Amino acid sequence: MQTLCRCGSKKESKECCELIIRGTKEAKTAEELMRSRYVAFTQANVDYLMLSHFSKTRPLKDRAFIKKWAASVIWSGLQIIKTKEGREQDETGFVEFKALYIEDGKLQHIHENSFFKLENSKWVYVSGEFLT
Ligand SMILES: [Zn+2]
Repeated sequence: MQTLCRCGSKKESKECCELIIRGTKEAKTAEELMRSRYVAFTQANVDYLMLSHFSKTRPLKDRAFIKKWAASVIWSGLQIIKTKEGREQDETGFVEFKALYIEDGKLQHIHENSFFKLENSKWVYVSGEFLT
């Protein structure tokens, strides 16, 4: 059975973010890492969320909360709005996105401009600025 990747790429999940989450493939760009992190949120895959987070800002103490919250909402889609740098030849980059989810029966979203950088030659999430 074919399942489209939940990141919205219209690719099959096993040929898209699943490869990155399982560690078969590395994210080549900040956007690819962002997409894989969204999919990990939909799976409440907190191990991957920690792994793909810059080691110095990794929110280890929020781990249990993130897992519980991610599993409690209905993830409804990812929209990549804009990217700045974060390409293969870059060392830092920004991805502005909206992640949609339903919580308590209401459609909500996270609108964020996220900052990514290379750590040990791998893209990791560093921090995000919430936008309205
Ligand atoms: Zn994907």
